[in-house]
Amino acid sequence: MDDEALFRPVVGIDLGTTNSLVAVIRQGRPEVVPIDGDPLVPSVVHRAVDGTLLVGHDAKAALVAMPERTVASIKRLIGTDKLVQLAGDRYTPVEISAMILSHIKREVDALYGEGPKEAVITVPAYFNEQQRRHTQEAGRVAGFVVERIINEPTAAALAFGLSHLQAEEKIVVYDLGGGTFDISVVQLEAGILEVVASNGHRALGGDDFDQRIVDRWCDEIIEQSGFDARTDIRALARLKHEAEVAKMALSEAENVSVDIPVVGMTQDGRPVTFSTELQRSQFEELIEPLLAETMTLTRRTLEDAGITPQDVSAVLLVGGSTRIPRVRALIQEEFHQTPRTDVHPDQAVALGAAVQAGLKSGALNESGLIVTDVAPFSMGIAVARPTALGGLKPGGYAPIIAKNTTIPTTRTQEFYTVVDGQTSIDIEVYQGEAEWVKGNQRLGSVTISGLASKPAGQESITVTFRYTLNGTLDVSARAPSTGANVQMRLNDALDRSSADALEKSRERISTNEMQLDLDDAEDIEPIAEDIEPIDEELLDRPSWDQLVDDQEQLTRRLSGRRKTSNSKAVDDLVKDLAQARQSRETDRLEAALDRAYDWLLEQEE
Ligand code: AMP
Repeated sequence: MDDEALFRPVVGIDLGTTNSLVAVIRQGRPEVVPIDGDPLVPSVVHRAVDGTLLVGHDAKAALVAMPERTVASIKRLIGTDKLVQLAGDRYTPVEISAMILSHIKREVDALYGEGPKEAVITVPAYFNEQQRRHTQEAGRVAGFVVERIINEPTAAALAFGLSHLQAEEKIVVYDLGGGTFDISVVQLEAGILEVVASNGHRALGGDDFDQRIVDRWCDEIIEQSGFDARTDIRALARLKHEAEVAKMALSEAENVSVDIPVVGMTQDGRPVTFSTELQRSQFEELIEPLLAETMTLTRRTLEDAGITPQDVSAVLLVGGSTRIPRVRALIQEEFHQTPRTDVHPDQAVALGAAVQAGLKSGALNESGLIVTDVAPFSMGIAVARPTALGGLKPGGYAPIIAKNTTIPTTRTQEFYTVVDGQTSIDIEVYQGEAEWVKGNQRLGSVTISGLASKPAGQESITVTFRYTLNGTLDVSARAPSTGANVQMRLNDALDRSSADALEKSRERISTNEMQLDLDDAEDIEPIAEDIEPIDEELLDRPSWDQLVDDQEQLTRRLSGRRKTSNSKAVDDLVKDLAQARQSRETDRLEAALDRAYDWLLEQEE
C-alpha cells in the first residue's frame, strides 16, 4: 500500500450559506479537496422530478427553473425548527444541511475510502448554542464524526497563522460571505492564536446585496412594462441570479448591461423583457447602509478588544463579498492600510478548519500552534432578584462566564438559598446577554439537593462553569456545608434527544423516495428542547396579604409615573390591579402585579 492508500484524513468543512468547501492536511499543509471538480460546492439542494437528489452546481442550475424543487441558503434557518418545502415535502434545516454534507462525504469517501470520517465544521462566531448543535447534528446525520465545531474567523486566522508563526500581531478578520458577517480580533503571538473579541450579524451578506439590486429592478420592470415580478417566484429567481452575476461583474467593471429576454409572462401571455444598466456607483449606493453596519460592528469589536485601528497589524479578508472594491476601500479608510488577501478569501475558512483538524489528528503536531477562542455569548443561571418592593422576583439572569471571555475557561460564583429551610436548588442554565432569562436561551438544568436546612440566604452553593474549545459547557455545583454536589455536561442536543430522531433523519435524507406527507409534518421531532417556563418552586408563594401590600405600593408607584409616562397605560395598569384584587384570586393578582412590575422596569430602562 502506498501512503495515499493509508491516508485517512480528518476533514475541515466550511458549511457556508452560499457555498461549502472541504479541505484536508497533506504533507503538513492544508489544501482544498475539489468536489465535482470544483473547490466550491454551492450549498443548494434540488429534488429532480424523478426523485433524485442533486446537491451543488447541478442543484444551483435548477434553482432558477424549478425554485419549488430547490432549497438554497439553508444556513440562515439552522437552529430553528422551521420546516422548508422541497418538491412538496417538508424538511428540517438539519436535514437539508445533512444532504449537503452527505454529498461532500460521498466525494471524500470516493477519494479516501468508505467509512466514518472525523470532521471539523465551521460556524459563524455569532451562532448560538442551538445553531452549533444543529450543525453538529447535520454532520452526524451525514455520517461524519464531528470532532469540533469552530468559529469561521478563528478558522480563517488559523489558515493565516500557519504561515506566519513567528509574527506577533493583532489581526482583524473581516468575513463577509453570502449570508453572514463576522468580525473578530485575533492575537497571534509566538504561535498562540487567541480570539480576543468577536461579533457578527446573522443575516447580512451577498444575498442581501443581490436583493437590493432585485428590488431596484422590480421597480424598473413595473415602470417599463407594468409587470410585477415580486408576485412571480420564477421571475424573482431569474432576477436574483442575474443580480448576482451583475454584482460580481461590478467588482471588476465600472458598469454592466443586463438583458433578460423573458423575465416572466403578462396575464395575457406576452413575454416581459427587461434591459437595464447598473453602474458600480449605483450599486455602492444601494449597499452602503449594509456596509456601514459592518463597519459599526467592526468598531464595536475593536472597542471590545480594547484596541484602536492603529494597533491592528493586518486586516484579513474572508468571504466572497470582500471582493467588492467598496468593501476594501472602507477598510482602507478605517485602518489606513491595505487589507490582506494572501489567504484565498473563499478558501481561508475551510483551510483553517483543516488546520484545526490537523491539530486534532496530530498531523500538525510539529507546527507549534495552539489555539484559544472566546465565548460568543455570556453564560449563566436563573436567579431570583430583589425587587424594588423588597420581595424577590424569579427569572433574573446572573452571568457566570461573560461574553468574549477567552476559552477554555473555568469560572465559579457563589449563590444563596432564597427560602427558609430550602434544601435543594434548581440550576437553570442560560446563554445570552439579556438581564432577565426570558430574553435569553435556555440550555438545560440540573438540581442540587442535600443542602443544610438553614434560614434563607444563609446556605450557599458554588456554581462552576467550565467552557471548553469544543463548545462544551460543564456545569457543576457544590454545597460547601454538606459536600453535596452535582455535575452536568451541555454539549450535544443529540445525546439528549432520541436516537430515533437521528435515525429517522438519516433515512429521510438517504432514500430517494421521500415518503413524508405534509400532514405528517408534526411528527418530526423537534430537535431543540422547548424553552421551559422558569421554575418558580424555589420561592415561597406569597400570602394574599403580601400581594395586597404589593398592590397598594405598586399603585402608588404607578400613580407617581402619571406625569412622566403614558397616563393611559398607568390608568389601565392601576385598574387591572384593582380588579385583580377585587377578584380575590391569588393567580390573577400575581399576574397583574407582574404586568405592572414589567412595565415599570421597561420605563426605567
Ligand atoms: P461565501 O459565503 O464566502 O462563499 O461568499 C459568497 C458570496 O460572495 C455570494 O453572495 C457571492 O455572490 C459573493 N461573491 C463572490 N464573488 C464575488 C465578487 N467577485 N464580487 C462580489 N461578490 C462576490
